[in-house]
Amino acid sequence: MPFSALGIIDHLRKALAEEGYKSPTPIQAEAIPVILDGNDLLACAQTGTGKTAAFALPVLQLLYQSHIHGEKRKIRCLVLTPTRELAIQIGESFTAYGRHAGLASTVIFGGVNQNPQTERLVRGVDILVATPGRLLDLIGQGHLHLRDIEYFVLDEADRMLDMGFIHDIKKVLKALPKKRQSLFFSATMPPEILKLAAAILHNPKEIMVTPVSSTVEIINQHILFVDRENKNGLLAHLLRERDIESALVFTRTKHGADKVAKFLARHDISAEAIHGNKSQNARQRALGNFKTRETRVLVATDIAARGIDIDELEYVINVDLPNIPETYVHRIGRTGRAGNRGTAFSFCNAEEKEYLRDIEKLIAKKIPIIGDHPFPMVNFEVEEPTPAVTKKGNAGHQEPKPKQPQTQKPADPAAKRPGRKRRFFGKQG
Ligand code: AMP
Repeated sequence: MPFSALGIIDHLRKALAEEGYKSPTPIQAEAIPVILDGNDLLACAQTGTGKTAAFALPVLQLLYQSHIHGEKRKIRCLVLTPTRELAIQIGESFTAYGRHAGLASTVIFGGVNQNPQTERLVRGVDILVATPGRLLDLIGQGHLHLRDIEYFVLDEADRMLDMGFIHDIKKVLKALPKKRQSLFFSATMPPEILKLAAAILHNPKEIMVTPVSSTVEIINQHILFVDRENKNGLLAHLLRERDIESALVFTRTKHGADKVAKFLARHDISAEAIHGNKSQNARQRALGNFKTRETRVLVATDIAARGIDIDELEYVINVDLPNIPETYVHRIGRTGRAGNRGTAFSFCNAEEKEYLRDIEKLIAKKIPIIGDHPFPMVNFEVEEPTPAVTKKGNAGHQEPKPKQPQTQKPADPAAKRPGRKRRFFGKQG
């Protein structure tokens, strides 16, 4: 189906053609007509499904169609999103899709000097993409108000709550006009999210796309059993042997991410780590270097990687398996996007075997094992989680002990499982 069948106007279609988008993704096909018709929307969709364009395109179109030429710009659309990285990416999407429509957007987020942001606001924008803290800050200082908002998008609502933004969201809601169109996106729909959605939306249409387990079906997945102390060696081997030019590598901890990046650098494989302890600038720089292929490997923790959107990323490597199976799906979902090829390698040591079992249960399939590699597992027993240096003892190559699985799991794992069909406001999505 072409974008024209959804009623998308020429100015936007031209930009989409320039982006190389040929047809809408499922969430776009479902959401765009609903939004163009003026409905509120409750959408259960995760990153990688094309959800940004699913809201950005119809919002741009509605703004364009009601824009009065020559009138001073006012902020008519607010997109609230949890992280700077996501905010920047959403801002880039609005700029790319709207480049022929004559609308102006900008992005505001914390951790950087506010002056360039306020100066941009003074020049006037139609669309504002913001993280909650900086938004409230600038409202408090009188640099902007939300009285003219006609379209409000809450993106990654579940992540917002996880990050403790609920009070900020409530404050933002108070500053919005009652009459508006609201679009609510979340990867999962636990009860607290539905409660928040009910407070924001009026008679929403509900859409649920790409259950989590089917997203990963197009990705080639492999498991490599390896002892903890050999994981870095195996990583270097894999990168070389398979000629992997670019890979996103996941570790469980910030410390682990730094260690992996240093190990690779010592072995002449350019690598940078990205995690919450790094400054905003350092993270953006690392991401930029990775996107331009200056750095071969980007090592990330789950939080830091949230929202990272890299076109044509083919490889994801899990040096540590996550203890929450949905995290595995989010990680490997960074590759194989929008129909591209994707490959995920995951290293599993003795302690992580039970995480692997949980993951295979969630995705409802066995992940093929690569047994033929130079670091086969010899420690089959689960070690006691105390010593930092084992008998084999190469402390420099050690990964932190995984936590016991129960400690981080949600009380009801199904409650966090986007792959399950669930009811939102009584109707099946
Ligand atoms: P998102 O889920 O919004 O983070 O988008 C995931 C990726 O898919 C981004 O790299 C988009 O540029 C890309 N994308 C979104 N819509 C389409 C489309 N219709 N055709 C091709 N690529 C797309």
